[in-house]
Amino acid sequence: MGSYKLICLSCNRTIVDNYTLSCPCGGGFVRTAYDARQLTVRDMPGMWKYYDWLPTKGFIDIPGKTVTYKSEALAKELGLRELYIAFNGYWPEIGAMIHTCSFKELEAPPTILRAMEHGGKAMVLASAGNTARAFAYLSTITGFPLIIVVPGKNLGNLWIPGREPGKSVHLIAMGEGNDYTDAINLAGRIASVPGLLPEGGAKNVARRDGMATVMLDGAVFMKTLPDEYFQAIGSGTGGVAAWEAALRLRDDGRFGQRLPRLHLAQNLPFAPMLHAWEEGRRDIMPERDMPEAKELISQMYTDILSNRNPPYSVKGGVYDAMKDTDGIMYGVTNEEAISAKKLFESLEGIDLLPASAVAVSALIQACDRGTISPDKKVLLNITGGGYERLKKDMKLNPVKPCIEVEGPDVPLDDILKVIE
Ligand SMILES: *Cc1c(COP(=O)(O)O)cnc(C)c1O
Ligand SMILES: [Zn+2]
Repeated sequence: MGSYKLICLSCNRTIVDNYTLSCPCGGGFVRTAYDARQLTVRDMPGMWKYYDWLPTKGFIDIPGKTVTYKSEALAKELGLRELYIAFNGYWPEIGAMIHTCSFKELEAPPTILRAMEHGGKAMVLASAGNTARAFAYLSTITGFPLIIVVPGKNLGNLWIPGREPGKSVHLIAMGEGNDYTDAINLAGRIASVPGLLPEGGAKNVARRDGMATVMLDGAVFMKTLPDEYFQAIGSGTGGVAAWEAALRLRDDGRFGQRLPRLHLAQNLPFAPMLHAWEEGRRDIMPERDMPEAKELISQMYTDILSNRNPPYSVKGGVYDAMKDTDGIMYGVTNEEAISAKKLFESLEGIDLLPASAVAVSALIQACDRGTISPDKKVLLNITGGGYERLKKDMKLNPVKPCIEVEGPDVPLDDILKVIE
């Protein structure tokens, strides 16, 4: 059970996992190759029902997992016969118990456990919000030390549901004018300190395989691979994970042989992957695809979807996932997202995080334009929701910074002093 090797997608070499984030060849992603070719759904807590295809020996006993259900009201509104919603958030009435309300809580558990199982002492990560919240929660539950770098304006996203933040959580807040990419740069510097593990982002197979459980859950519920998969992206890691899950399910043999088409949506006006993809380019050209990035990001409905350095060009990344599935990219304006949010909430009866509304809007666009026909099996990834619902049930305790810094070039000693 759960045993695997890593394969380098560039040179095809097989690597024994030693918390390996990349191959010595310096090529593209490494990917897990699990011994279990067919998926057995396990009677284990939360997302560990997909234990066979997660890169950990043990498990963490929390209830969070994707809950997939068949939509009636939104499906009818859009004229779809088979719309399935993969809900990632808090909605106890349907058994959805992701307490930090986004699918980042599918990345954090296997990532932290994998680091612990490989003897890591502490992990460093950068985040604009949902990732930080999920990892801080998991650090609180496991006691595994975590250093989180967050742009100051995103501090409000950082809370622990129903309990006090653990002493293992060390939060570094960055002053005004810093965005997510500045946080990534500072986190990268901190992670170079011996003993501190970088969380690795999309390169980390635990993050991708954790997110991949969304597609696994959809396919297990639908008893087949979907035809179409919709998701809002910032880094696109979730899209890559959905593709990788679909490749495994195709290999399993019982879920059909056609890969779902990826429909990935960015929030305008900041949409570097959309621009590169529309021009057929594997490379993002910063001056063309995201001029004045900080200004554009400040205009977004949700900067959770901003990432100036997404894993787009890398072998095994977003571009390859889109090519292999004949994917489509969408740009969604703030107004479109807001109206999609209202529509979804009134029809399905649960509140959405803003990013999820971007995916709903892409689905509306696809239906309006006739891009997908009414008989297609559609899987809509609701990447986050139930925050308003959660607030009724639980106290959300803010995580307080242990230091505030001006920018990514702050001397490392200043930071190490306070986290020791
Ligand atoms: C991170 C996040 C996304 C984007 O996911 P990626 O696939 O990593 O780009 C979408 N929605 C929510 C709620 C998120 O937290
Ligand atoms: Zn290699």
